[in-house]
Amino acid sequence: MTIYTPIIGLETHIELATQTKMFCRCPAEYFNAPPNTSVCPVCLGLPGAMPVANAQAIEWTILLGLALNCTITTRSFFERKHYFYPDLPKGYQISQYQSPLCENGSLTLPESNVTIPIRRIHLEEDTGKLLHGSSKNNSLIDFNRSGVPLVEVVTEPAISDSRIAAEYLQTLQKYVQYLGISDADMEKGSMRCEPNISLKSPSDKGLPQYKVEVKNINSFKFVRKAIDFELKRQTSILQKNEIPLQETRRYMEANGSTASMRQKEEAHDYRYMPEPDIPPVVINQDQFNSLKKRVETVELPNKRLKTLVNMQIKREDALLLVDDKYLGDFLLEIVQLCTKEEKQSGFIQKLVNYLVNKKISHTLSKHEFYAKAKTLSKPVETDMASLKNYIANAIENNKVAVSDYKLGSLNAINAIVGSIMKESKGSFQAKIVLDELKKVLR
Ligand SMILES: [Zn+2]
Repeated sequence: MTIYTPIIGLETHIELATQTKMFCRCPAEYFNAPPNTSVCPVCLGLPGAMPVANAQAIEWTILLGLALNCTITTRSFFERKHYFYPDLPKGYQISQYQSPLCENGSLTLPESNVTIPIRRIHLEEDTGKLLHGSSKNNSLIDFNRSGVPLVEVVTEPAISDSRIAAEYLQTLQKYVQYLGISDADMEKGSMRCEPNISLKSPSDKGLPQYKVEVKNINSFKFVRKAIDFELKRQTSILQKNEIPLQETRRYMEANGSTASMRQKEEAHDYRYMPEPDIPPVVINQDQFNSLKKRVETVELPNKRLKTLVNMQIKREDALLLVDDKYLGDFLLEIVQLCTKEEKQSGFIQKLVNYLVNKKISHTLSKHEFYAKAKTLSKPVETDMASLKNYIANAIENNKVAVSDYKLGSLNAINAIVGSIMKESKGSFQAKIVLDELKKVLR
């Protein structure tokens, strides 16, 4: 049987959480807004409207590039990518092709420790949204999303399986969230993924002759399913000595399969040309240095994982805390309240346990949480004078049990311990009560 090697690359679109859109000053937040209320001549593509690039979107894209170890292009420009679709009123999308803002980066995944090479990160605008199904014969268009800043992160085709693909996406999502540039919420569509999938035969010299792109997948689970389905489908075609079609497919949620949408376009089909209405983006040394500083002040997920593991926190707990930035932030605030002795005596792991097992609520203030954790973790101190009183009373009140014990019944002494525990409302550890009682009855 021929062994085929999966060749998988990922294109991920992330909507930036800027106040305004990419090339006009309409609000970029469109979620829950009534249709076609955040629009203007620029994002409706009306003739003569002039786009002006959003500086914050450019800065945030560079921040992401720096966080992912990319080279930053100091002079880049926007281009028009032509295609016809009803949600794209200009007939072209303003994007970047020849000179992406960021290139040649990498992202190391925390669980598998695999490093994924990043080919490029560029900036473009989102399209409008088509709403189907309100009635049988029409579709409606909402242009609120048209022109929202969209970052596209493209990996090299270096991913070997669906599990790594999902881990890459989860890690990328964390980076974006830690940088605070997008909520990267796949359910809301502010992060979408398109895997490119092909299989390399042993006889292929370079990359395979074809690739299949699966469009706009909006959950980590579906990405895994789509990739696994494609690998199976393509294997069965190759085994018949045929070559799968180069095409774009869509993921079918209902049965976890993919279905053909159209034959895949090549770059030249888009007739890219420089956008004449927007001057080149030039990043000078001062701007570069200040962005670099900003990235260095953010504790990114990989660095946070190291910080947590260095505090002697179990790796699986540390991964959980990296996953939930809010909980991680909260823990680190509480750790700052701890004494040196507490930090060295395993108290931090106890804090983590209380937090992860929800034994103490994270809705408390950090001071309240810390105080409660201290009480809970303290070994119960035994008030010996009071215990002796309880023991004396118990002996007085359980004469039969005492004589039974003296005759050799172990059950009898346990019954006395039980009565002391009950009387003292559990103020003592049973083991200590038993030891003391034995001493007295000796
Ligand atoms: Zn607008």
